[in-house]
Amino acid sequence: MRVLVTGGAGFLGSHICDFLINRGDSVICVDDLSTGRPANIRHLLELPAFEFVKADVSAGLDIDRPVDAVAHFASPASPPDYHQRPLETLAVGSRGTEHALRLADRNQARFVLASTSEIYGDPAVHPQREDYWGNVNPIGPRSVYDEAKRFAEALTMAYRRTLGVNTGILRIFNTYGPRMRPHDGRVVTSFITQALNSDPLTIYGDGSQTRSFCYVDDLVRGIVAMIDSSEAGPVNLGNPRERTVSELAELVLAITGSPSAVEYHRLPVDDPTRRRPEIAKAQRELGWLPQVDAEEGLRRTVDWFRSRPDEVAAAATLVAGEQVGGSGAVAFGQLQAS
Ligand code: NAD
Ligand code: UDP
Repeated sequence: MRVLVTGGAGFLGSHICDFLINRGDSVICVDDLSTGRPANIRHLLELPAFEFVKADVSAGLDIDRPVDAVAHFASPASPPDYHQRPLETLAVGSRGTEHALRLADRNQARFVLASTSEIYGDPAVHPQREDYWGNVNPIGPRSVYDEAKRFAEALTMAYRRTLGVNTGILRIFNTYGPRMRPHDGRVVTSFITQALNSDPLTIYGDGSQTRSFCYVDDLVRGIVAMIDSSEAGPVNLGNPRERTVSELAELVLAITGSPSAVEYHRLPVDDPTRRRPEIAKAQRELGWLPQVDAEEGLRRTVDWFRSRPDEVAAAATLVAGEQVGGSGAVAFGQLQAS
């Protein structure tokens, strides 16, 4: 197959590119490098089966080579990233998704949308099943991401219903692993970076909110199974083991052996109180189950960050600045509840 991966230089996208190349597919990776990094794909650039196109998919997606599948992963994903790029986030979820769908339609290709557990907002139903419609604030600070993805899902279904495009929607829950940017502001990277720098771990709120964390290798197997199938979805992908943010902090401290303390900070506006995927559909339709537990996944991730001490040290100021009100904190700091 020749697969076009938008957002292919990002965290998830670059792992998808690796997986596809390793099994013998060709990949066209389209990325504007807004939150992705050339280092994520540098090892692929010389391969004949890999092509990198630097482009903003919100502006257009004019690829003239035939493709068999389009995996649409371009979008800021970390809350600080989408708070800093609200208009770009809405654009890539709407116009960017339409450009990717049109390309799939022209090529009669399989189309897979990277949607998100944010579809469920602050969920009133727990765990979250795909038939739950969600509880989303349509005008809050997170809405630029949540509503962009909800629109992207609606657009995907409209292309399927009206034009017969072979579409599939994945709702991805919190995923972590090597290649995340140490300063991307997501909780796993923040805690690991802070622990390795012996800085305090910044818990937002009282730490009782929950998330369910999936290791990237598990997730990528599920994504590729979705690309290979003709399942319409939506299908949840995530690890159903749920834990509080405080428990995650303890686990990171235990795995790193760090002397760091924990510090409590204001909870961001509309921060969901709980998240756990119901994954029976992924198991049934894709034969998918996660295999890597958090202890093992975090150990692998910590090892990866440890092998990049300069980046981790440099992230200390950026993490503190973006999240807890230091210099450069304006965008995210203003979005936190009192
Ligand atoms: P990431 O920020 O590492 O990757 C996103 C990539 O998209 C980056 O390389 C960025 O440069 C690129 N991009 C952004 N806007 C673009 C545009 N207009 N044109 C071209 N490229 C653009 O984030 P990620 O964690 O790898 O997330 C990838 C996708 O998966 C996103 O769509 C995200 O919403 C979805 N997702 C991720 C998670 C997670 O836990 N990682 C959870 C739910 C959904
Ligand atoms: N969080 C935290 N400290 C941090 C970063 C995040 O306590 O330094 C919390 C955040 O408020 C949320 C959870 O961790 O409750 C997961 O946050 P993340 O940004 O990783 O993902 P999302 O909120 O999109 O699920």
